[in-house]
Amino acid sequence: MNTEELYSTLDIELEKIKEAKTFKYEVPLESEQGGDVMVEGREVVMLASNNYLGLANHPRVKEAAHRGIDEWGYGLASVRFLCGTEPIHFELESRIAKFVGCEAAILHSSCFAANEAFFAALLANDLGYTYYEDVIYSDQLNHASIIDGVRLCRSIAKQTVSRLYRNGDTAHLAEMLEEDRDKNYRIKVIATDGVFSMEGLVAPLPELVKLAREHGALLMVDESHATGALGKTGRGTPEELGVYGEIDVITGTFGKALGGASGGFIAGRAPLIEFLRQKSRPYTFSNTVPPAVVTASIEAINLIENDPSITNQLHENTEYFRREIVRLGFTIIEGLHPIVPIMLGEAALAQDMSRELLGEGVYIKGLWYPVVPKGEARLRAQISAAHTRADLDRALEAFDKVGRGLGVI
Ligand SMILES: *Cc1c(COP(=O)(O)O)cnc(C)c1O
Repeated sequence: MNTEELYSTLDIELEKIKEAKTFKYEVPLESEQGGDVMVEGREVVMLASNNYLGLANHPRVKEAAHRGIDEWGYGLASVRFLCGTEPIHFELESRIAKFVGCEAAILHSSCFAANEAFFAALLANDLGYTYYEDVIYSDQLNHASIIDGVRLCRSIAKQTVSRLYRNGDTAHLAEMLEEDRDKNYRIKVIATDGVFSMEGLVAPLPELVKLAREHGALLMVDESHATGALGKTGRGTPEELGVYGEIDVITGTFGKALGGASGGFIAGRAPLIEFLRQKSRPYTFSNTVPPAVVTASIEAINLIENDPSITNQLHENTEYFRREIVRLGFTIIEGLHPIVPIMLGEAALAQDMSRELLGEGVYIKGLWYPVVPKGEARLRAQISAAHTRADLDRALEAFDKVGRGLGVI
């Protein structure tokens, strides 16, 4: 096709997406991110952000970002190894490593980039072997960035095998590991999200740690939705489930609970992290994390470590909302994470309900097929330490009114 034909083909495809009701519209916030925000000229309760600890507009985080610019400049115009490293980059790497319970860490521009980097950097290198095969066991519900990371790795290291196990199903994974026992794989990696974002469910880390040890596999856990948001002191799913310090590789983001701007990391044992510094292509060929984001991320960690009231507030708010939304008569997926899926069934109902809730002052997003299975459409509420009791009550009142109006409760 010529370029004009290409553009009209794209127009047709866009129409198809709209007809399938999967077109993503962006509604601009007219304020900072927070427990409540301005949308379309009105103040609404925000139930759709990953700002779990309310640090996205925390005065001390903002101040740290300003300080970062004042002391270290706006940008570095370089990748890390040329002239894009300041002491604050090493400081953040060692702080985040310690925070998540690992020996060392390496920053990336995002967790997406970190996950894309990880598999190829490690498995697409011969490491002195002339013949080898590696295997990646991946949870079926893993984030798109793990899926793409595995795909990229397999397109370079074609002999790498990837196997999907059913979500959270350690018996299924154990079966696969058993089948593969005699296959002489060079490296085995088990990869999972710590928290699955559509359900708010946690991965069975204690069992995964056990299986990984038994089979000599490396356990890689993406803690994007969990760092800061789970565990008594915010140290994530391993803390929550009693296996803190026992995970081989943790990837995560600064774009959610830890201030919500951007930036990602891979944490693990020192030789692995040093190797990634040499071999990760997104690290080697993409710009360094800007100073303001680095100093603000350090401050986010300071806040979480020094002021337990922030994580406590999140846990209290989560418990309150989970209890009260069930009391109103809604069906949720039970759990402990601030992601609270409110199950509705049909996509149309989820769409109507999120629109009507916005009218009642609640900003919440719906998820439906193909993002979740058919007939399991839902609204996904995300609770934050930034919510006041009044915010949550206002949201619950709106749920009550709209839910009754639509015959859900
Ligand atoms: C959000 C998320 C990412 C992407 O993180 P970014 O830093 O925004 O690229 C990766 N993995 C999981 C599980 C996530 O939830």
